[in-house]
Amino acid sequence: MSATVPILMYHSVDDSCDPAYRRWIVSPERFAEHLSVLRDRGYEPLTIANLVRRQQAGSLPENAIAITFDDGLADFGRHALPILERFGFASTLFVTTGYVGESARWLADLGEGDRPMMTWDEIAALPQRNVEVGAHTHSHPQLDLLAEADARREIEHGKALLEAHIGRRVESFAYPHGYSTPMVRRLVARAGFSAACRVADGLSRRGESPFALSRLIVTGEWTASQMEDLLDGRFAPVAPAPDRAAMQAWRLYRRLRSAFAGSRPTVAF
Ligand SMILES: [Zn+2]
Repeated sequence: MSATVPILMYHSVDDSCDPAYRRWIVSPERFAEHLSVLRDRGYEPLTIANLVRRQQAGSLPENAIAITFDDGLADFGRHALPILERFGFASTLFVTTGYVGESARWLADLGEGDRPMMTWDEIAALPQRNVEVGAHTHSHPQLDLLAEADARREIEHGKALLEAHIGRRVESFAYPHGYSTPMVRRLVARAGFSAACRVADGLSRRGESPFALSRLIVTGEWTASQMEDLLDGRFAPVAPAPDRAAMQAWRLYRRLRSAFAGSRPTVAF
Protein backbone atom coordinates (compact mmCIF):
# COMPACT_ATOMS: atom_id res chain seq x y z
CA MET A 1 0.00 0.00 0.00
CA SER A 2 1.22 3.50 -0.80
CA ALA A 3 2.59 5.24 2.32
CA THR A 4 1.36 8.66 1.28
CA VAL A 5 -1.78 10.49 0.16
CA PRO A 6 -1.51 13.58 -2.03
CA ILE A 7 -3.65 16.43 -0.68
CA LEU A 8 -3.59 19.24 -3.23
CA MET A 9 -4.07 22.86 -2.19
CA TYR A 10 -5.40 25.42 -4.65
CA HIS A 11 -6.58 28.98 -4.09
CA SER A 12 -7.76 30.67 -7.31
CA VAL A 13 -8.66 29.16 -10.65
CA ASP A 14 -8.78 32.16 -12.95
CA ASP A 15 -7.09 33.76 -15.94
CA SER A 16 -5.51 36.90 -14.57
CA CYS A 17 -4.30 38.43 -11.33
CA ASP A 18 -1.87 40.88 -9.79
CA PRO A 19 1.72 39.67 -10.38
CA ALA A 20 2.22 39.44 -6.59
CA TYR A 21 -0.57 36.82 -6.41
CA ARG A 22 0.81 34.70 -9.27
CA ARG A 23 1.81 31.79 -7.00
CA TRP A 24 -1.80 31.33 -5.89
CA ILE A 25 -3.58 31.20 -9.23
CA VAL A 26 -3.99 28.41 -11.77
CA SER A 27 -5.63 29.01 -15.14
CA PRO A 28 -8.83 27.06 -15.90
CA GLU A 29 -7.04 25.28 -18.78
CA ARG A 30 -4.16 24.24 -16.54
CA PHE A 31 -6.55 23.12 -13.81
CA ALA A 32 -8.39 20.90 -16.31
CA GLU A 33 -5.02 19.42 -17.36
CA HIS A 34 -4.25 18.58 -13.74
CA LEU A 35 -7.61 16.85 -13.33
CA SER A 36 -7.08 14.93 -16.58
CA VAL A 37 -3.88 13.47 -15.13
CA LEU A 38 -5.74 12.39 -11.98
CA ARG A 39 -8.51 10.79 -14.05
CA ASP A 40 -6.07 9.03 -16.39
CA ARG A 41 -4.17 7.66 -13.40
CA GLY A 42 -7.37 6.36 -11.82
CA TYR A 43 -7.23 8.55 -8.73
CA GLU A 44 -10.30 8.79 -6.51
CA PRO A 45 -10.71 12.32 -5.08
CA LEU A 46 -12.24 12.32 -1.60
CA THR A 47 -13.40 15.19 0.56
CA ILE A 48 -11.20 15.79 3.61
CA ALA A 49 -13.92 14.52 5.99
CA ASN A 50 -14.25 11.35 3.92
CA LEU A 51 -10.52 10.85 3.66
CA VAL A 52 -10.12 10.99 7.44
CA ARG A 53 -13.20 8.84 8.05
CA ARG A 54 -11.97 6.14 5.69
CA GLN A 55 -8.44 6.37 7.03
CA GLN A 56 -9.76 5.78 10.55
CA ALA A 57 -11.93 2.90 9.34
CA GLY A 58 -8.92 1.34 7.60
CA SER A 59 -10.72 1.56 4.24
CA LEU A 60 -8.75 4.32 2.53
CA PRO A 61 -8.40 3.33 -1.13
CA GLU A 62 -4.94 2.94 -2.63
CA ASN A 63 -5.71 5.63 -5.22
CA ALA A 64 -7.07 8.21 -2.73
CA ILE A 65 -6.33 11.89 -3.30
CA ALA A 66 -7.91 15.12 -2.04
CA ILE A 67 -8.42 18.38 -3.92
CA THR A 68 -8.79 21.38 -1.62
CA PHE A 69 -9.30 25.12 -2.10
CA ASP A 70 -8.68 27.82 0.47
CA ASP A 71 -10.53 31.04 1.17
CA GLY A 72 -13.93 30.80 -0.61
CA LEU A 73 -13.14 33.04 -3.55
CA ALA A 74 -15.82 33.62 -6.19
CA ASP A 75 -13.57 32.16 -8.89
CA PHE A 76 -14.06 28.74 -7.27
CA GLY A 77 -17.74 28.78 -8.29
CA ARG A 78 -17.09 30.48 -11.59
CA HIS A 79 -14.19 28.39 -12.90
CA ALA A 80 -13.07 25.52 -10.66
CA LEU A 81 -16.43 23.97 -9.81
CA PRO A 82 -17.73 23.51 -13.39
CA ILE A 83 -14.45 21.74 -14.25
CA LEU A 84 -14.61 19.55 -11.13
CA GLU A 85 -18.19 18.63 -12.03
CA ARG A 86 -17.19 17.76 -15.58
CA PHE A 87 -14.78 15.20 -14.12
CA GLY A 88 -17.20 14.11 -11.39
CA PHE A 89 -14.61 14.90 -8.71
CA ALA A 90 -15.29 15.66 -5.05
CA SER A 91 -13.44 18.56 -3.43
CA THR A 92 -13.24 20.60 -0.24
CA LEU A 93 -13.52 24.39 0.01
CA PHE A 94 -12.33 26.17 3.17
CA VAL A 95 -14.21 29.44 3.63
CA THR A 96 -13.06 32.59 5.46
CA THR A 97 -16.43 33.67 6.80
CA GLY A 98 -15.76 37.34 7.59
CA TYR A 99 -15.57 38.32 3.92
CA VAL A 100 -18.34 36.21 2.34
CA GLY A 101 -20.25 38.20 -0.27
CA GLU A 102 -17.58 40.90 -0.20
CA SER A 103 -13.93 40.79 -1.28
CA ALA A 104 -10.74 39.15 -0.03
CA ARG A 105 -9.51 42.25 1.79
CA TRP A 106 -6.77 40.34 3.64
CA LEU A 107 -5.12 39.81 0.23
CA ALA A 108 -4.51 43.56 -0.23
CA ASP A 109 -0.76 43.08 0.30
CA LEU A 110 -0.77 40.76 -2.72
CA GLY A 111 -2.70 43.28 -4.83
CA GLU A 112 -5.89 41.21 -4.65
CA GLY A 113 -7.89 42.93 -1.90
CA ASP A 114 -10.74 43.43 -4.40
CA ARG A 115 -10.90 39.78 -5.51
CA PRO A 116 -14.57 38.82 -5.04
CA MET A 117 -15.65 36.18 -2.54
CA MET A 118 -18.51 33.71 -2.95
CA THR A 119 -21.91 34.62 -1.53
CA TRP A 120 -23.71 32.71 1.23
CA ASP A 121 -26.28 31.42 -1.28
CA GLU A 122 -23.50 30.00 -3.45
CA ILE A 123 -21.79 28.41 -0.45
CA ALA A 124 -25.03 26.88 0.83
CA ALA A 125 -25.51 25.12 -2.52
CA LEU A 126 -22.05 23.49 -2.51
CA PRO A 127 -22.77 20.30 -0.51
CA GLN A 128 -25.28 19.22 -3.19
CA ARG A 129 -22.54 19.69 -5.77
CA ASN A 130 -20.05 17.26 -4.22
CA VAL A 131 -18.11 19.97 -2.37
CA GLU A 132 -17.40 19.70 1.34
CA VAL A 133 -17.58 23.13 3.00
CA GLY A 134 -14.80 23.50 5.56
CA ALA A 135 -13.86 26.35 7.89
CA HIS A 136 -10.88 28.71 7.62
CA THR A 137 -11.52 31.11 10.57
CA HIS A 138 -13.50 34.33 10.42
CA SER A 139 -10.87 36.92 9.51
CA HIS A 140 -7.88 34.86 8.25
CA PRO A 141 -5.38 35.66 11.04
CA GLN A 142 -2.07 33.94 11.76
CA LEU A 143 -3.58 31.80 14.52
CA ASP A 144 -0.22 30.89 16.03
CA LEU A 145 0.37 34.56 16.92
CA LEU A 146 -2.99 35.10 18.66
CA ALA A 147 -3.82 34.81 22.35
CA GLU A 148 -5.71 31.62 23.09
CA ALA A 149 -9.09 33.31 23.62
CA ASP A 150 -8.81 35.21 20.33
CA ALA A 151 -7.76 32.09 18.43
CA ARG A 152 -10.69 30.18 19.92
CA ARG A 153 -13.16 32.90 18.87
CA GLU A 154 -11.79 32.89 15.31
CA ILE A 155 -12.09 29.12 15.04
CA GLU A 156 -15.51 28.75 16.70
CA HIS A 157 -17.16 31.77 15.10
CA GLY A 158 -16.23 30.70 11.56
CA LYS A 159 -17.60 27.21 12.21
CA ALA A 160 -20.85 28.46 13.74
CA LEU A 161 -21.54 30.88 10.87
CA LEU A 162 -20.95 28.22 8.24
CA GLU A 163 -23.17 25.70 10.01
CA ALA A 164 -25.95 28.28 10.33
CA HIS A 165 -25.80 28.97 6.60
CA ILE A 166 -25.35 25.46 5.19
CA GLY A 167 -27.50 23.66 7.77
CA ARG A 168 -25.08 20.84 8.46
CA ARG A 169 -22.06 20.09 10.62
CA VAL A 170 -18.74 21.51 9.43
CA GLU A 171 -16.16 18.78 9.99
CA SER A 172 -12.92 20.07 8.45
CA PHE A 173 -10.72 23.08 9.02
CA ALA A 174 -7.69 24.63 7.30
CA TYR A 175 -5.19 26.77 9.24
CA PRO A 176 -4.89 30.22 7.57
CA HIS A 177 -1.39 30.52 6.07
CA GLY A 178 -0.92 26.93 7.25
CA TYR A 179 0.21 28.12 10.68
CA SER A 180 -0.66 26.21 13.82
CA THR A 181 0.78 25.22 17.18
CA PRO A 182 -0.17 22.37 19.52
CA MET A 183 -2.47 24.86 21.31
CA VAL A 184 -4.19 25.88 18.05
CA ARG A 185 -4.61 22.25 17.00
CA ARG A 186 -6.14 21.47 20.40
CA LEU A 187 -8.61 24.36 20.01
CA VAL A 188 -9.64 23.07 16.59
CA ALA A 189 -10.24 19.58 17.96
CA ARG A 190 -12.22 20.96 20.92
CA ALA A 191 -14.37 23.10 18.61
CA GLY A 192 -15.75 19.85 17.18
CA PHE A 193 -13.81 19.45 13.96
CA SER A 194 -12.69 15.99 12.85
CA ALA A 195 -9.79 17.09 10.66
CA ALA A 196 -7.55 20.03 9.88
CA CYS A 197 -5.14 20.78 7.05
CA ARG A 198 -1.82 22.54 7.26
CA VAL A 199 0.58 23.47 4.47
CA ALA A 200 3.72 21.41 4.42
CA ASP A 201 4.53 21.31 0.73
CA GLY A 202 4.84 17.58 1.00
CA LEU A 203 2.74 14.47 0.76
CA SER A 204 0.56 13.48 3.65
CA ARG A 205 1.71 10.28 5.34
CA ARG A 206 -0.96 7.69 5.98
CA GLY A 207 -1.54 7.69 9.70
CA GLU A 208 -0.57 11.38 10.04
CA SER A 209 -2.51 13.25 12.76
CA PRO A 210 -5.94 14.21 11.35
CA PHE A 211 -5.32 17.71 12.79
CA ALA A 212 -2.07 18.24 10.88
CA LEU A 213 -2.78 16.90 7.40
CA SER A 214 -0.04 17.99 4.99
CA ARG A 215 -0.99 19.68 1.77
CA LEU A 216 0.94 20.51 -1.37
CA ILE A 217 0.69 24.00 -2.83
CA VAL A 218 -0.25 23.62 -6.49
CA THR A 219 0.91 26.62 -8.50
CA GLY A 220 0.02 27.78 -11.99
CA GLU A 221 3.47 26.76 -13.19
CA TRP A 222 2.76 23.10 -12.57
CA THR A 223 2.42 21.35 -15.91
CA ALA A 224 0.57 18.10 -16.44
CA SER A 225 3.92 16.27 -16.50
CA GLN A 226 4.91 17.79 -13.14
CA MET A 227 1.62 16.52 -11.76
CA GLU A 228 2.58 13.07 -13.07
CA ASP A 229 5.99 13.36 -11.42
CA LEU A 230 4.30 14.24 -8.15
CA LEU A 231 1.98 11.26 -8.31
CA ASP A 232 4.91 9.01 -9.16
CA GLY A 233 6.75 10.25 -6.07
CA ARG A 234 9.53 11.89 -8.11
CA PHE A 235 8.73 15.44 -7.14
CA ALA A 236 7.38 16.18 -3.66
CA PRO A 237 8.99 15.11 -0.42
CA VAL A 238 7.00 13.54 2.34
CA ALA A 239 6.05 16.34 4.70
CA PRO A 240 8.04 16.66 7.93
CA ALA A 241 6.24 16.60 11.25
CA PRO A 242 4.94 20.01 12.36
CA ASP A 243 6.80 22.26 14.81
CA ARG A 244 10.33 21.55 13.79
CA ALA A 245 12.96 24.10 14.74
CA ALA A 246 12.71 25.91 11.41
CA MET A 247 8.97 26.46 11.85
CA GLN A 248 9.55 27.81 15.34
CA ALA A 249 12.21 30.25 14.10
CA TRP A 250 9.88 31.43 11.34
CA ARG A 251 7.11 31.99 13.90
CA LEU A 252 9.47 34.07 16.06
CA TYR A 253 10.34 36.15 13.02
CA ARG A 254 6.68 36.79 12.19
CA ARG A 255 5.93 37.64 15.82
CA LEU A 256 8.74 40.19 15.94
CA ARG A 257 7.81 41.65 12.59
CA SER A 258 4.18 42.13 13.61
CA ALA A 259 5.26 43.68 16.95
CA PHE A 260 7.67 46.11 15.28
CA ALA A 261 5.10 47.07 12.67
CA GLY A 262 2.81 48.04 15.53
CA SER A 263 0.18 45.85 13.98
CA ARG A 264 -0.31 42.88 16.22
CA PRO A 265 -2.92 40.61 14.75
CA THR A 266 -6.39 41.52 15.92
CA VAL A 267 -9.71 39.78 15.87
CA ALA A 268 -12.03 41.58 13.52
CA PHE A 269 -15.49 40.68 14.75
ZN1 LIG B 1 -6.33 31.19 3.30
